[in-house]
Amino acid sequence: MTRIAIAGFQHETNTFAPDETTLDDFIQQGAWPALTRGDDVFQVFDGLNIPIAGFMSACRHQMVPILWAMAEPGGYVTDKAFDTITGEIVDGITRASPDAVYLDLHGAMVTRAYPDAEAEILRRIRARMGPDMPIAVSLDLHGNLSPAFFDLASVVTIYRTYPHTDFAETGARAAALLDRAMAAPLFKAYRQGDFLTPITAQTTDHSPAKELYAALPGADAVSVDMAIGFPPADIPDCGPSIFAYADTQEAAEAAADAALARLKAAEPEFDARLVPAAEAVRQAMAMTGPVLIADPQDNPGAGGTSDTTGVLQALMDASAPDAVLSMLHDPAAAQAAHAAGVGARIEIELGGGHRQYSDPVRATVVVEVLSDGKFTCSGPMFGGAHADLGPIAGLRIDGTGIRVVVGSVRCQNLDQEFFRVAGIEPGDHAIICVKSAVHFMADYKRITPTVLFAVAPGANPCDLTAIPYTKLRPGIRLD
Ligand SMILES: [Zn+2]
Repeated sequence: MTRIAIAGFQHETNTFAPDETTLDDFIQQGAWPALTRGDDVFQVFDGLNIPIAGFMSACRHQMVPILWAMAEPGGYVTDKAFDTITGEIVDGITRASPDAVYLDLHGAMVTRAYPDAEAEILRRIRARMGPDMPIAVSLDLHGNLSPAFFDLASVVTIYRTYPHTDFAETGARAAALLDRAMAAPLFKAYRQGDFLTPITAQTTDHSPAKELYAALPGADAVSVDMAIGFPPADIPDCGPSIFAYADTQEAAEAAADAALARLKAAEPEFDARLVPAAEAVRQAMAMTGPVLIADPQDNPGAGGTSDTTGVLQALMDASAPDAVLSMLHDPAAAQAAHAAGVGARIEIELGGGHRQYSDPVRATVVVEVLSDGKFTCSGPMFGGAHADLGPIAGLRIDGTGIRVVVGSVRCQNLDQEFFRVAGIEPGDHAIICVKSAVHFMADYKRITPTVLFAVAPGANPCDLTAIPYTKLRPGIRLD
């Protein structure tokens, strides 16, 4: 029977983020599973909306799970973390002696030694398994993929939604493509786009990404996928890329050219829709709620520290009468609240752990709800996934209608349960503030379609012209 070795190693690296991503960050559980080895992968991932789970349900061959690990987006992955996890994957594949390999990767991992980390993973696998081993890879729409990576992978397929609701579907498509690649070698073509777009402009809920992704062929005669790129990455291959596979070289080249032409034509339509934080709060207070205020520049899902106070300060300055915010990363505040107990009124500093972006907010708060941070997501992205975010507290700024959820594990608020864990029903409030850029929309748009992208200083700058890049390839434009 055909044997497929399967493994996952996901990270989206923001090279401007202040804190490195360590091995512990990959071992730890967040809103996704903790590092998982061997046959445990079958149980832990069963039914989840994660690429490797989709691959497993679609694959008709014997599978040998090696390891799966993911960390919240952040700064450079340490070379120790990269070498340890990659080494375990490569050794496991070697021991499994498979007929083919499937990898659940992100596509935007960067280490100090390897700016093109996914290509290095494939290089190390090829060094053991040879140039002809079929290797299928599923990737995040935010991958920054290089020509070297394209050369090393047999087939590649990429999420087609942002918010990413099609994790499992993409894994299943990788299984179908791998079957084709094992039956007969596919011809392939690759293109790179020459402009970067801010992540708030990239959602497939709106034009132009909506139409760009809807136009991609399935996994039929011709398979075409496109990564839009992850902008806060100072590497030569930052930006969009296109992967086409077909039964003839001509068909692959033509399909890649057509996708690139559509991408180029769409360039003027990408709009970041950014509003200064104070203005966003002013606009939200003038509207009939609920109104969503996203804090994309402190989105931990793009490497933000999740502890900036710009939006919170704007709510306080404007005396917003009814606002909720989640999730501010502040383990010390969570601990202080747990020590004081429900109902206590305490003087506290909130957030501001990275002073280059913001100072802490000093306030008297009422401890309203305490939680151990264990909950089950219920939204379209991570529904059914068990989160473990450590001690959490729901705090109300004394004498106001402003409530803040503080947590102990940095994790993007992409599910309404990030409020409910602190006793807050988000839809009952006039202003709902989330530390997220786009992913929150999958669940929160069920409450309201009204979204404002508030600009406050953070590690994920969305005005790309303000980013001090030094390593982009020549000629790339910043939109
Ligand atoms: Zn992504």
